[in-house]
Amino acid sequence: MEKIHNISIIGSTGSIGTQALEVVDECKNIRVWGLSSYSNIELLEKQIRKYKPKIACVVNEERAKELKIKVRDTDCKIVSSNEGLCEVSTVDEAETVLTAVVGISGLLPTIEAIKKNKNIALANKETLVTGGHIVTKLAKEYGVKLLPVDSEHSAIFQSLEGNRPEDVKRIILTASGGPFFGKTAKDLENVTVEDALNHPNWSMGAKVTIDSSTLVNKGLEVIEAKWLFNVDSDKIKVLIHRQSVIHSMVEYNDNAVIAQLGAPDMKLPIQYAIEYPNRLPMRGNELDFEKYDTLTFNKPDTDTFFALELAMKGAKLGGSLPTVFNSADEAAVDLFLKGKIKYLDISRLIAEAMDEIKNIENPTIEQILQVDKISREFVYSRV
Ligand code: NDP
Ligand code: MG
Repeated sequence: MEKIHNISIIGSTGSIGTQALEVVDECKNIRVWGLSSYSNIELLEKQIRKYKPKIACVVNEERAKELKIKVRDTDCKIVSSNEGLCEVSTVDEAETVLTAVVGISGLLPTIEAIKKNKNIALANKETLVTGGHIVTKLAKEYGVKLLPVDSEHSAIFQSLEGNRPEDVKRIILTASGGPFFGKTAKDLENVTVEDALNHPNWSMGAKVTIDSSTLVNKGLEVIEAKWLFNVDSDKIKVLIHRQSVIHSMVEYNDNAVIAQLGAPDMKLPIQYAIEYPNRLPMRGNELDFEKYDTLTFNKPDTDTFFALELAMKGAKLGGSLPTVFNSADEAAVDLFLKGKIKYLDISRLIAEAMDEIKNIENPTIEQILQVDKISREFVYSRV
């Protein structure tokens, strides 16, 4: 009998959250104690009835009240707001918390979970982008694991197993290139929301899909990798690999390159993070090598997709600059999805925010949240 894993999922109604629950259905050795959504109570109610968690949070208070009435026949405690989200991430029974919320909203519940000695299955990269220096230190202090769910970071994590960190020459972070690979800035002037949401290999939440098209996502991932694997950003190389078969690689001092390959399916890294170090059977979606005539590799076009360079600058300078990068992007993507700005304005607004807002070295949590607020206000004020 496999060990039982007791988990809590914040962001259970999203793309990662729902795929995590499919993993729960398959694996039979995972017990779910907490769930959360921002406002989607229809799906959350179904999840509560099926997985019978002890607690569930709807961040939106009005919607939480509605859900409370709907599920009053169950034993599930319904909470709301960001404090409620922390209650879900710190629920006593959970040993591991899967952070599948989107944006900086993941930061505080992750910190609180670590302080309650919980391992983190980390999908929410924004947590490390904004608070990496605090979160990695805390994880060490409390002796908890940060297990990556992001497919690239899971691949790097797997490629590092059994090797000495000091022997790593560099990390090669692969990127699909998104729907606009090969396009010029001129081609991108009139991109619609629909075009940008049309990702070639992955089906994900709206924000991460737009971020993949601008290469902001890859930039966030460079910063995420820097913290997860304790390497300088100069040692992280981004490589476009259109087929998303090689999920990332590690090059060692002897020039050996170790990679993890698989069909593009987030369930694999989700399951691995929960079951680590075991590898349970997974149905379907084996990598069919014969489906691929060629695997291709290209240098990223950072003239067109200059957000990647901005992230590199944020990764190198550190402090609160990565928070500005992230939060300006969150606001700009929101505006783009609402049709208030053009596609190229996303990266332009991030650049302006990074130029304008003063960098704070070694920011505290309060300062990070303050910088988040200022960065959003800056972007919204430009429109
Ligand atoms: P989704 O947008 O699909 O889901 C986000 C989840 O978070 C939903 O449950 C949503 O609730 C909830 N949520 C939204 N806003 C807030 C908020 N302000 N406070 C608390 N909860 C909130 O996102 P994804 O699943 O695509 O992504 C989640 C995280 O995983 C992101 O950090 C992303 O970068 C990362 N990731 C995602 C991948 C993917 O394949 N999707 C791949 C690798 C990383 P509601 O449903 O009510 O809106
Ligand atoms: Mg990724």
